Parts: sequence; structure tokens; C-alpha cells
Amino acid sequence: MSRFLSSAFSKISPYTPGEQPQNREYIKLNTNESPFPPSPEVVAHINSEEASRLNLYSDPSASMLIDAVAENFGVSADMVAVGNGSDEILAFSFMAFCEKGVAFADVTYGFYRVYADLYGLKTKIIPLTEKYEINPDDYKNIGCTIFIANPNAPTGHCLPVSEIEEILVSNPGNLVVIDEAYVDFGGESSVPLVNKYNNLLVIGTFSKSRNLAGARIGYAISNPEIICDLNKMKFSFNPYNLNRLSIIAGTYGIKDKEYFEKCTSLIKEAREYTVSELKKLNFEVLDSKTNFVFAQSGDIDGEEYYLSLKDRGILVRWFNKDRIRNFVRITIGTKEQMSLLIDATRDIIKAKHGEDIK
Ligand SMILES: *Cc1c(COP(=O)(O)O)cnc(C)c1O
Repeated sequence: MSRFLSSAFSKISPYTPGEQPQNREYIKLNTNESPFPPSPEVVAHINSEEASRLNLYSDPSASMLIDAVAENFGVSADMVAVGNGSDEILAFSFMAFCEKGVAFADVTYGFYRVYADLYGLKTKIIPLTEKYEINPDDYKNIGCTIFIANPNAPTGHCLPVSEIEEILVSNPGNLVVIDEAYVDFGGESSVPLVNKYNNLLVIGTFSKSRNLAGARIGYAISNPEIICDLNKMKFSFNPYNLNRLSIIAGTYGIKDKEYFEKCTSLIKEAREYTVSELKKLNFEVLDSKTNFVFAQSGDIDGEEYYLSLKDRGILVRWFNKDRIRNFVRITIGTKEQMSLLIDATRDIIKAKHGEDIK
């Protein structure tokens, strides 16, 4: 730390992204990316013609992308904002709407804690239930801004929209932010509620179900006043937050619904396979509506399992954090990748039992 860093930031512990190894080929099941390439439409439209325009700034209103997102969700364009990843929209939301503090779960997306600290916000941390689920009653009449990942990460648990609605009704004076990063793998979207409740902000991403993590595209859907506030933050921070190539990637990516359906259904199939195989190997697997499973073995502790998989060239995510230390979060890749994961797991557990007998 230099002597120039403001004291306000000296104690912040930044978000730790999952490893992105550059020097060894791993089967990468650690950051919830899609194993599939972007839609061929995306690849076709990010061409040298557009690349040759990189001397010019991108469209600060990203209107082509906004229109495509609006059309996809059946809302008007003034109800959509886009950002450099949904992380940026989350950051703007923590910046803009959290004067009275923020509430979120003890086990949820790690960035909520980081943003709360970055902006010096009061936090109300709400523990998940014994079964690692969000109890909607804990979020009623709360008196500050609420952030819920639905489905939640890294647990995979999903609340039905009817329960989100109860939270909205009981918090008329507070903004409720629903982070739908994983909704396309079997969750229920709260987007239809934005016309009914003016205290709802839904945030989504192209990083998981739309195969574009590297393009950094996120979106917000809410009423026009909230969208206007988000744009105020954006234009006070980085007006060209989406670059030319990402605007094109997002636009053609979201238009290719067939490819999206195909990829998400392959992931769901591979998830069901993974869950049933892990259960056969004595794992507890939390019910998942996402592109990952959160699982703990009855035979090997979480860190050891994570390290043994890494030795064998498979990366999963292990969190050194109370309550979930024995779990690993495994991204669902292709069926082939998952079958290799299962083989490796069987070997690891066999080796471990051999050791116990010795
Ligand atoms: C991955 C993820 C994000 C961030 O997505 P980006 O659009 O890549 O910034 C946000 N929220 C949750 C819950 C996530 O898992």
C-alpha cells in the first residue's frame, strides 16, 4: 500500500475472482462461464470492419444493444440500462441507492460485501437458513436497500417470484435489487414485476447463459426513473462503458434465441447428470437452478477435494469461508467435461479410502 491511498480504502478487501490460469490447460469449472463459444452470429458480426472503427468512441447510449435487450424482455427501451458487466451496474446501484444501508445474505455473491465496503455503507447481513436457503420473511419491512441473487450464488437456491413479490410489497420505501445472473438455467424471472412495483430493479448478465463473459455486458431492467438514475451514475463515471465490439456482441448474441435455448438446455442436462453421479458418490448436492452445483462430500473435506481435482487438471471453486468451507462450487460444463469430473472424483475418493485403510 502506498502512502497516498485514502484512509477510507485502506481496509477494503477486494473481490477475489476465480483463478484464470494462463499457463496450463485446465478443465475450467470454477467461474461459471459457459463452455460453449458465443453464437456464430456474434462471431460473424465482430468483424474487421468494426475493428477498424476502434479509433472512434463507442455509442455512449449503446442504443442498438438497449433496443435488443428491451425487445427480448418485452419492455420499452427507457426501462433498460446496460453496463460493463453486471458488476458495474451493481456498483452503480450500491453507489446510487443505498443511503439507508444495504441488506444481503451471509452466503451470497461476494461482490455485495466489497461494494458495501467500497462505498462505506451500513450493512445488515441476513443468515441463510440451516438448509442454505433464503427465507423471504427475513427480508420483509427491512428499512434499507435489499440485494438478493435469485437464484442465489454459490448455493443455487431459487425463490419463486411470488415470494419476491411479498418482499416488494412489504418494503414500499426500499429498493429491492434482484440479481438474476443465473435465472436462465431454471429460475423464475422477476422482470414481469417491474411494471407493477416501482421499487424493483432487476439486474442480469450476458456472462453466464449468453456465452459472453469476456465481452463484459450486463443489463438492468426497471422503471424509467430508476434507469435514469443509473444513467446519471454512468455518465458521471464512464460514459463509454461498453466498447464497440461488446455492443455488437451483445446485440447479435441476444437476438440468437435458438442458440441460447440450445446451450442452456445442454447445461441443464449436464447438470442433472452431474447431480445424480455426485449423489451416487456420497455427496450432498444442494438443489440447483443454475449452471453450477454446490456440493459437499461425505468422504473428503472441501479444500482437499478442490486441491486433488486441481492436481488432476480440473478447476472448481472452493471458498475459505465460515459455513461453506466443506463445499465446492462446480460449474456445469459440457457433458464430456462433467464425465471427466466424475471419473476424477471417483479416483480421488478411492485413493482416500485406500489411505484410511493403511
Ligand atoms: C457472475 C455474477 C455476476 C457478474 O457478472 P458480470 O456480468 O460478469 O459482471 C453478478 N452477480 C452474480 C450473482 C454472479 O454470479
